[in-house]
Amino acid sequence: MKATKDELLKLQNDWVMGTYAPEIMLVKGKGAKLWDADGKEYLDFAAGISVCNLGHCHPRVTEAIQKQAAQLVHVSNLYMNPNQPYLASLIAQHSFGGRVFFCNSGAEANEGMIKFARKWGNPKGKSDIVTMEDSFHGRTLATLAATGRVKYRQGFQPDTQGFTHVPFNNLDALKAACTAKTCAVMLEPVQGEGGIIPVNAGFLTSVREFCDENDILLLFDEVQCGMGRTGKMFGYQHYGVEPDAMSMAKALANGYPLGAFEVQQKYADVLPPGTHATTFGGSPLACAAGIAVFETFDEEHVLDHAESAAAYLWEKLEDLKDTHACVQKIRGLGLMVGVVMDAELPPILAAAKEKGLLALSAGEGVLRLLPPLTISHADIDQAVAILDQVIPN
Ligand code: PLP
Repeated sequence: MKATKDELLKLQNDWVMGTYAPEIMLVKGKGAKLWDADGKEYLDFAAGISVCNLGHCHPRVTEAIQKQAAQLVHVSNLYMNPNQPYLASLIAQHSFGGRVFFCNSGAEANEGMIKFARKWGNPKGKSDIVTMEDSFHGRTLATLAATGRVKYRQGFQPDTQGFTHVPFNNLDALKAACTAKTCAVMLEPVQGEGGIIPVNAGFLTSVREFCDENDILLLFDEVQCGMGRTGKMFGYQHYGVEPDAMSMAKALANGYPLGAFEVQQKYADVLPPGTHATTFGGSPLACAAGIAVFETFDEEHVLDHAESAAAYLWEKLEDLKDTHACVQKIRGLGLMVGVVMDAELPPILAAAKEKGLLALSAGEGVLRLLPPLTISHADIDQAVAILDQVIPN
């Protein structure tokens, strides 16, 4: 590529659709570090929005992608490739032993899971899905309709039919919203975009019971909270409540696009040949990256490290709360952390970036921290020191 940084900035302005407003151009990553086009170093507490959970360019994932790219990249799902069934078995082993459909993104995983629920409900006359207020399920039309946060749907009406939203963690509202036409209840075990809000254990147990009693499927969106983010491989595993189906994406291949949804074995025949498909999903290349991710989790004890890193980060953040009155509360699970603030977030995030720390916002007034699960104590110290400087007292 023959272009200077200034030329590229102009190309971005002239030719890339303005759905985002990125301010820095990143050119290299390693572990929890990123470098921009001017050589400035950043500590990454966003991890590509919970995607690079093993850190940037993890050597095992890089090697798997390089090897597979030289051997076979894509064949379509009209043919088998050896990596897809192997990765499906790894997902099953690390979750509830179900059947897996592979796709390319979180929205596509949810879209497929919604289609699964409707197909299951169709012979029973059930098609409606109840989701949570403040939830986020993606930007395609059905996943937008499932999304509880109204601002994402504005301007794209009419909403796809068949979705209603109830307040999160409110059992009475959920029961009241379900009818004989309800085929599924769908929720994030820890809401991400909504503001890092974990589901209440009692609520989840009761929802499972209610769904079982009323022949309603329970669907979990683990796109953001899955893949070790909360300290367990999947967020639901903190609660001892299994879903009928769950979606995943983001960190599944540590940055290579890969999504999936998994259904319990008893639903293996709900989507027979011809009922759902995707050209790219589950390619040899994407699945090679996914296999390397699971092998790294297992062989490098990533969850154990994430647990101790999370304990250390939470302790440091609690200290920060004690010295900054605008910090109201630290909430979340594992390394999916929300710092609830009574302060304007954009200037804080901008000042953190200036000092070399990338972090995110979520919901209203929540500073969202999603470091790689491999983050070191020294990097946590550095990040918290920067937050200490940029958060008002
Ligand atoms: N579901 C949840 C919980 C998410 O956080 C996201 C993205 O942030 C999505 C779905 C959509 O995923 P994608 O952007 O890969 O389509």
